[in-house]
Amino acid sequence: MNNQEQKPIWIAGPCAVESETQVWTTARQLHEIVQRDNLRLDYFRAGIWKPRSHPDSFNGLGEQALPWLAEIQSKLEFQVCVEVLTPEHVSLCEKYGIYAVWVGARTGVNPVEVQKIADAVSHKPFTVLVKNPLVADLKLWIGNIERFLQADVKKVMAVHRGFPDNKENVLRNAPCWEIPIALKVHYPNLPILCDPSHLCGQTSYIPQIAQIALTYGFDGLMTECHYAPKEALSDASQQLTPEQWAEMIHQLKYPTNAPDRKLVRQRALLENVDNQLSQLLWQRMSIVDEIARIKREKQLPVVQPQQWQKVVERYHKTEHDELYARFLDQFLSLLHQYSVLRQQDDNSFQES
Ligand code: PEP
Ligand code: MN
Repeated sequence: MNNQEQKPIWIAGPCAVESETQVWTTARQLHEIVQRDNLRLDYFRAGIWKPRSHPDSFNGLGEQALPWLAEIQSKLEFQVCVEVLTPEHVSLCEKYGIYAVWVGARTGVNPVEVQKIADAVSHKPFTVLVKNPLVADLKLWIGNIERFLQADVKKVMAVHRGFPDNKENVLRNAPCWEIPIALKVHYPNLPILCDPSHLCGQTSYIPQIAQIALTYGFDGLMTECHYAPKEALSDASQQLTPEQWAEMIHQLKYPTNAPDRKLVRQRALLENVDNQLSQLLWQRMSIVDEIARIKREKQLPVVQPQQWQKVVERYHKTEHDELYARFLDQFLSLLHQYSVLRQQDDNSFQES
C-alpha cells in the first residue's frame, strides 16, 4: 500500500456501496484504468452509512458492506475511506481494518458528535478526513479539525465540499472559496482537498471546479465515481464513470512549485506594502483613540455620520474598478465598526 503520499492526493469511489457487484465493478474499473494510464489512486471512497435528508432514501448497507471493502483494500491495494457518524461506526471500521474515515458535513455541525468520533479514533492508526460543516463557519471547521489533531491520529486532512446557501444556483453548494483558503492560511501544512462532486451536484461542472481548486492550491480531490452513475441509488447526477474520472485527471493542470522570479519580486513588493499598511492602520487606530478622548471630553456622540461620509469619499477619490469599489465598501464598513467599538467607553472590541 502506498503510505508515502504524493501530491495531489486523489480520492475516488462511489457515493455509496449499493451491492457487492456495484462496489467491486467500480473498484476494479478504477484499478484497471489507474494501471493502464499510469495514474495514482490514493484512496477509494465509499459510503456505507448515509445521512440522507429523507427517511425513505437509500441509507446505505452498513456493516454488511465492510467485508467487501476490506477485500478491495487488500486485493487491489487501495486505501479505503468510509464516512463515520458514530463511535460504533469507528469500531466497526477498526474491526475490518479500514484505512481511513471521514466526518461528513452533517455531522460537522455538531461539535459534541465530532468529539465522540475524535475520542473513538484517538491514538488509532486512522487517516481522518474532516469535511467542512454544512454551515459556512470557519471556526467550527477549525474546531472540528482541532479535535482530531488533539486525538493524535495518524493523519488529518480537510475536505471542502461547499456550503448550502438556499439560493437558486447552478452549483449544488456555494463554494465560498475564501473559507477553505483561510483554512489553508490557518493550517499551512494540513492537506486540504476539494470534493467537486458535492460542490457541483452535476458532472458537467466537475472538471472546471476541480481545476479552480487545484489552481487555488488545494492538495487533491475527492470525487464520486460509479461504474453506472445513472443507476446510482444516491447522488446519481454527480458521479463520474471511472473513465470520465481518468480523463479529468489527465486534463487537469497542476501549479508547479518552481519559484517564478517575477512572482518573487512582486511578493517582495507586496510585503513592503503590507508592512506599511499594517503600520498605517495601527497609526489610524491611535488617532481614533485620541478623537474618542476628545469626544468624551466634549460629550460629543461617538458616531457622526457626516464625518464618516467624508472618510468614505476620501477612499473613493482614487480611481478604481467595480470589484475594488465593492471591496472598499466592505472594508470601510469593517473599519468604521471597529473605530466605533474602540470609541466606546469600555473599549471592548472582542472577537466573537
Ligand atoms: C458523501 O461524501 O457522500 C457525503 C455525504 O458528503 P457530505 O457530507 O459532504 O454531504
Ligand atoms: Mn454523495
